[in-house]
Amino acid sequence: MSITQQRIDYIRTQLETWQVDALLLGNPTNRRWVSGFTGSFGWILISAEAAILGTDFRYWEQALREAPNFTLFRWQRSQGEATWRDFLAGVSVVGIEAQHVTLAEFAALRQIEGKTWIELDKTVETAREVKSAEEIAQIQAAAAITDLAMAEVPRLARPGITEKQLAWKLEKIMRQNGADSLAFETIVASGPNGARPHHRPTDRELQIGDNITIDMGAKRDGYYSDMTRSFFLGDEPDAHFWDVYNLVLEAQQNALTNMRADMKGNEVDALARDIIEAAGFADEFGHGLGHGVGLEIHEWPRLGKTETNTLPVNAIVTVEPGIYLPGWGGVRIEDLVVVTESGVDYLSRCPKEPIIPIRHAATGTRVL
Ligand code: ZN
Ligand code: ZN
Repeated sequence: MSITQQRIDYIRTQLETWQVDALLLGNPTNRRWVSGFTGSFGWILISAEAAILGTDFRYWEQALREAPNFTLFRWQRSQGEATWRDFLAGVSVVGIEAQHVTLAEFAALRQIEGKTWIELDKTVETAREVKSAEEIAQIQAAAAITDLAMAEVPRLARPGITEKQLAWKLEKIMRQNGADSLAFETIVASGPNGARPHHRPTDRELQIGDNITIDMGAKRDGYYSDMTRSFFLGDEPDAHFWDVYNLVLEAQQNALTNMRADMKGNEVDALARDIIEAAGFADEFGHGLGHGVGLEIHEWPRLGKTETNTLPVNAIVTVEPGIYLPGWGGVRIEDLVVVTESGVDYLSRCPKEPIIPIRHAATGTRVL
């Protein structure tokens, strides 16, 4: 049975739990996950009897090809409410995506007579946490592209290059190696800029003695990757750099070594956070430990202090503790892993060697 048919069947098993006749999906990511359809306009309706994809003239051929498990419905924008009435014929209680439907769409839906709308907080997001073998392979491919670019950092991060120039060189490497686009704007944070976890690259030139945090990912065939490494530009960092770097590394390693499926998001978070807090940096690690990655860069499950959801087998998550010290900079180390019954499988494989020696960096000689 195709993965798409399995996903349709899954939704049918949930209809009773949601107390609806049918589920209406308009969010592009959820729509793609359940149907395979990647067009930018479409509505999906799944009931016990039917699986319908409504789209317009522009995407008709594409929908035929990408969504063979769905009955296609020709969307006629010009006919307004009549199109909606036809599309929703035969169902009366319909679940909608409360996190995604706009106020304007909801206002239009409420005009249709004889329908009851049930606002659902999550629909297929929970099922999306569990990646299929094919999805794991796709995310692995995106992660491998990120590995390739990160491996070039010791060669590229020379004194005098700006954060923006370095970000652009890394983007080019990812694009040349098959990325469709960046997963998000690459973060290159040097020196004191590293104190901001989501710093945007500036014209600041890298200097000897900087610590540099680089957080980047590739998007390929709809799937994302995400990885962070922190570096020191120079031969001999001071003891403070090593204290902070080794603490973050130890916290990350403790989480990666001891996490496994069936743990709660807050339990995994504590594996790293307890170590950082015990060293006196509770307030300097101000974000969650990690997040799910798939068709979105941030999705479920989440690892954080207040997350009580359980990690399923074959969830893909980041593990990314960090410490941020205003005026000094920051250190964050992030890996992408598949959660298994006994632990994790690594998708990020780039080594964690932070030192970029000056004697090589200054002349541009390849070190690796
Ligand atoms: Zn990241
Ligand atoms: Zn991340």
